[in-house]
Amino acid sequence: MELKYIPKTSLNAWLAKVKDSGRQLYAPVAENGKTNFKRVSSVDEISMGHVQTAQSAKGVAFPRTEKLFSYARQQGSVTLQDYDPNALPSTVVFGLHPCDAAAFKPLSGIFGWDTQDKPFSERMQRVTLVSLSCSKCDAFCFCTSVGGSPGNADGSDILLTAVSDEGYLVEIVTDKGKSLIEPHAALFEAAPEVSKAELLAHVEVKFSVDEVERKIADAFESDVWKRQSARCMGCGACAFVCPACACFDVQENAKGAAGDRIRCWDSCGFALFTLHTSGHNPRGTQSQRWRQRLLHKFSYMPRRLAVRGCTGCGRCSRACPVDMNLSEHLKELESIHRTS
Ligand code: SF4
Ligand code: SF4
Repeated sequence: MELKYIPKTSLNAWLAKVKDSGRQLYAPVAENGKTNFKRVSSVDEISMGHVQTAQSAKGVAFPRTEKLFSYARQQGSVTLQDYDPNALPSTVVFGLHPCDAAAFKPLSGIFGWDTQDKPFSERMQRVTLVSLSCSKCDAFCFCTSVGGSPGNADGSDILLTAVSDEGYLVEIVTDKGKSLIEPHAALFEAAPEVSKAELLAHVEVKFSVDEVERKIADAFESDVWKRQSARCMGCGACAFVCPACACFDVQENAKGAAGDRIRCWDSCGFALFTLHTSGHNPRGTQSQRWRQRLLHKFSYMPRRLAVRGCTGCGRCSRACPVDMNLSEHLKELESIHRTS
């Protein structure tokens, strides 16, 4: 991996040049007490002081709502306007943390599992991720418990790590990343000799994820799911903020003889998520839905896709209105009796 250094005074100049090269630039923006990824029109809008954005960056490849195609019926015939990948813009996401960059791997696993999902894969091809290592964390972060780290480069195209208040170590991870740097090479300098580990936040390891995965594979009938989900309201906030959740619904937005077929985020925590038209719901209770959420992330996905459905960003626990704390629940699952 190629290493460089960029002085803080050159960072905004580089990002401005990247934006002015015809790409959309998404970056963290602080507004009304929250920081979220937004498309910026000026690099002066970018905010870098947060531990974690409220929403993840996944919307750049899996938007909250997306038109799949449009149709119109006229005089007995139907015209179809299909999904047009050529209309998708090239996008650079700046300032996401390693847990968000790593989450594009499980998303890619789900959207490429049995058949390639065209909207997702076409967007991913046009997205470049310029991540920022974490120099601070909070009590909800647990990336180090699920195989990540505050300086994990896996999933990023470029990873920046603050060396001091003066500048950043630049790890160029992929060819996509290289193509953002090469045209502006004059802004970059030779990398200094630094110990990257000493520049990162200390994120405590809270449980053994291998042990959790071994235990829950046998815990389908356990009463632990009822106990843990007793206060869950099924609001879906945890799924909507999660960088690795991929549940979606497909809806018609029609008026008269014309309309759009859209897909929108959904959640396996919603009571109606698996309701059949017969009236039967195979996951009729909140404990069954909680079990599905955890088994999907920590058993089904590792087995089917060789990737975990959680990168330890902690957003679900920060967002939960009834203080369900995922790392605490995983810690409990680590120590349950295998047949309890
Ligand atoms: S955010 Fe909390 S209450 Fe809402 S569905 Fe998730 S775990 Fe349940
Ligand atoms: S399950 Fe929670 S901690 Fe894990 S990636 Fe999703 S939001 Fe983050």
